[in-house]
Formats: sequence, structure tokens, C-alpha cells
Amino acid sequence: MQGKIIKGIAGFYYVHVVESGIYECKARGVFRKDKKKPLVGDNVEIEVLDEQEKTGNIINILPRMNELIRPAVANIDQALVVFAVTEPKPHFNLLDRFLVMMESKEIPAILCFNKKDIAKKQEVAELEEVYRACGYPLILISAKEEENIEEIKKVLRGKTTTVAGPSGVGKSSLINLLQSDIQMETGSISKKISRGKHTTRHSELITIDDNSYIMDTPGFSSLYVNEFEKEELKYYFREFASYEGQCRFNGCDHVHEPGCAVKDAVEEGKIHKIRYEDYLEMYQELKNKKRY
Ligand code: GDP
Ligand code: ZN
Repeated sequence: MQGKIIKGIAGFYYVHVVESGIYECKARGVFRKDKKKPLVGDNVEIEVLDEQEKTGNIINILPRMNELIRPAVANIDQALVVFAVTEPKPHFNLLDRFLVMMESKEIPAILCFNKKDIAKKQEVAELEEVYRACGYPLILISAKEEENIEEIKKVLRGKTTTVAGPSGVGKSSLINLLQSDIQMETGSISKKISRGKHTTRHSELITIDDNSYIMDTPGFSSLYVNEFEKEELKYYFREFASYEGQCRFNGCDHVHEPGCAVKDAVEEGKIHKIRYEDYLEMYQELKNKKRY
């Protein structure tokens, strides 16, 4: 039988099988030889031990599409990044770090800005100017007035999506709205899971429908980019791509080099200053990073 790990607690894995529900599983079998540890999000094969009790063993982990370290999760199709248009005003630097992280993992990001109901036109215009211009899908919603929630549901359908955002932006309000349709279905899931008495926060997939999952990503307040070299950073700013090869120097990092097409584009307003400044800050951070 095949399913997806939606939660792991203290050596137990909760595997969602579309046709038959959630199984509490242990990891057994040959795959443990190569020290592969099951992750939330893994698609796995299980053998059922007791159908009544819904217990089983994980006997195989299917190949991973990708894997994140923090939070530890596998097979993420996309990221929904939630900020508020206002109250609190978006923290652009944090947002850009998150986008860089996702670009480096080749995980497509969708931007969701909440609190549309209290946003000024001009605040919305600025966001669109910065982010739509670099090619990110951008959805404006109001969780409070349940505006544009259908549009969010549409992009989540059939996918596993990590939902990230700083606190206060309305992420919980949004997740509650997304869950409401399937409250009945998740009832049984929560019962099964709540048997584990551990209260620490773990990564967990929330079932939206049979093959749509979201993962609430906790602890999103500061992000350091440190998993790659400074020379790679430029590839993670999408809007730089169209200037590739136009700088005077081969391998230009778009920092102090003369004849830099990216810097010219910033001057001409074709690349947003906010984005470029965040690029420089992250570049400096990577340059100064400690080597172990
Ligand atoms: P979280 O910390 O991101 O999970 O945010 P919450 O869902 O707890 O919401 C934070 C605050 O923002 C609460 O006071 C909510 O009532 C408020 N809030 C959430 N969504 C909206 C919205 O669409 N519009 C307005 N005006 N307030 C909202
Ligand atoms: Zn350059």
C-alpha cells in the first residue's frame, strides 16, 4: 500500500493512504541500511500489521523530489509565502530571503498578501511593483472578509505546499479557512494523531483534500542564507536573469564591477532597489560566512 507521511512523532510515522485513512507506522526494513530517515512529506510503501488498529511498517521510501532541512520535510511542490499588506507592513528583507531559499531549492513560490480589507491602494501598488515585476504570482486576500480564498484553494489543489510567513500576518486565520471544508474528514485524522502525547511542535502536513496538503512552517522570523556560495546568489534573483551575459566581465557578481548591466538596470528602475539592496546584503553575508 502506498501513502504519504503527514507527521512523525517519537519514532512513529503517520501515513495517510488516500483510500483507507491514517496508519501509525514504524520504520522497518531494508531502506534503513542506507541510513535514510523517513521525512514528513515522503511517499512511502507500507505493510499493514493490523487493519483494525491501523498500524503498519514503512518498508520503502519512494524517491524524493526535494528535501528541506528546516523544516525537515520532503517532496514540497511549492511554497505559499504569506505576508500582510499592512499591519504589520511586509518585511521585504525577510521575504527576499525566503524567496532566495526557495529558488535555491527550485521550489516555486507564490506570494499571498493578506489584510486587503485595510490596505491602501498605494501599499498594494508598491507590492505589485516590486514582486509581480520579478515574475512571482501574487494573490491579495482578506482572511477576515474571506476574499479571494478560492483563488488560494485553486493554487493548492493537488499539491503539497509549505505555508510560511511571520506572525501577525493572518496565517492561522487563512489556514483555518482552508481546512474548514474537510473538517469532517480530518476529524478522524486528528483523533489518531492526538494519541501521541508529545506536545513539541513538529512538522505536520494538514490534509486539504485527498491529494492536497499544506504544511504550516513554524519559526519563520529570521533567515540566514548560508547553504551556498556567494557566486550562486545572483541566480536566485529571477529578475537578474535577463541581464545574464550583458555585463562587461564574465562571471560578474553585480556588486562593484564596472560595466554591470544589473547595476545599470537598478539605476534605470528596471530592477527594484529594494530587491537589489537585499541582494547586496545577502551577498555580504555569504562573503563573511564562517567556514568550518
Ligand atoms: P498569524 O500570527 O499570522 O497566525 O495571524 P492570525 O491569524 O493570528 O491573525 C493576526 C491578527 O490579524 C488577528 O488579530 C486577526 O484577527 C487579524 N487578521 C487576520 N486576517 C485579517 C484580515 O484579512 N484583515 C484584517 N483586517 N485583519 C486580519
Ligand atoms: Zn553585473
